Amino acid sequence: MSLCDLAPPYIRGIAPYVPGKPTSELARELGLSDIVKLASNENPRGASPRAIEAVRDALSDVARYPDGSGYELKRALAGRYSVAAEQIVLGNGSNDVLELAARAFLCPHSSAVYSQHAFAVYPLATQATGATGIEAPATDFAHDLGAMMAAVRADTRLVFIANPNNPTGTLLAARDLRRFLECVPRSLLVVLDEAYAEYLPDDRDDVGDAHSIGWLREFPNLIITRTFSKAYGLAGLRIGFALANAGVADLMNRVRQPFNVSSVALAAAQAALADQDFVRESRRLNEAGLAQIVAGFMRLGIEYIPSYGNFVSFKVGDANTAYQRLLRLG
Ligand SMILES: *Cc1c(COP(=O)(O)O)cnc(C)c1O
Repeated sequence: MSLCDLAPPYIRGIAPYVPGKPTSELARELGLSDIVKLASNENPRGASPRAIEAVRDALSDVARYPDGSGYELKRALAGRYSVAAEQIVLGNGSNDVLELAARAFLCPHSSAVYSQHAFAVYPLATQATGATGIEAPATDFAHDLGAMMAAVRADTRLVFIANPNNPTGTLLAARDLRRFLECVPRSLLVVLDEAYAEYLPDDRDDVGDAHSIGWLREFPNLIITRTFSKAYGLAGLRIGFALANAGVADLMNRVRQPFNVSSVALAAAQAALADQDFVRESRRLNEAGLAQIVAGFMRLGIEYIPSYGNFVSFKVGDANTAYQRLLRLG
């Protein structure tokens, strides 16, 4: 018997997440110096100078444990989103809060529903609890809320929805999401992952940002997750958060490690949140970049999926060959 046999079968069955290659590794392997990293949807502008400044200031106190309650950041988030501090769960990246939701609400005799082509972390977080993952078929690469509703079983406790979705960049209309929340049984939780919310255009009133947080008042079974990794440019510091009903947030906080978010990340996030000019400029640059890439696809006759994120999926003959060739070009 091998030691690996001691792990439960659902743990042994987990397929490892394959992250984008770090540029240092690529430089080493291929001898490249001029590398443009596009694989992890980070902010090409970096982070707000105010966040970097806050990081520097926070370094003088790294001998101390962080504030495990995240009091200051929660106060800032509560003010920005008009929620109570008790409705906020801070995470070591929003991946951490997705896992907290899974750990708080799933067990081996339950299930979670997510869409085909959705964010790769949902099946991983589900499987790590021993729950059954149910993949609902997508329609034109987008979440099909009807199919997701149909996939819900009596033992379903969580439904994961990425809006916009990674890697397809597709967006669900606010009215469709709302209808889903109205129809879905209140005995399960809907995790609405809005990692790219800050990239949504300001002037769209049919999309997530303006509406979803207001829905928390009506739907106590809604969990919204956000991150500082994308538009805020703090991916390396690992910080994200969930907004939910206070009772739900309390359960997630109980399974959270007491010091899951570092003091440096807390300070950076608070400064980044206060610099909305940086976010606006990032959104503007992203809109211009997306238009540039799409114009190139059209000129080259390449099929693509219209994206609402800071990335875009497109069709190539053999994806692995294209990937290798793009890698070699840096
Ligand atoms: C990038 C991304 C996240 C954020 O992950 P972090 O752990 O916050 O860095 C969450 N959900 C989706 C869909 C993403 O693409």
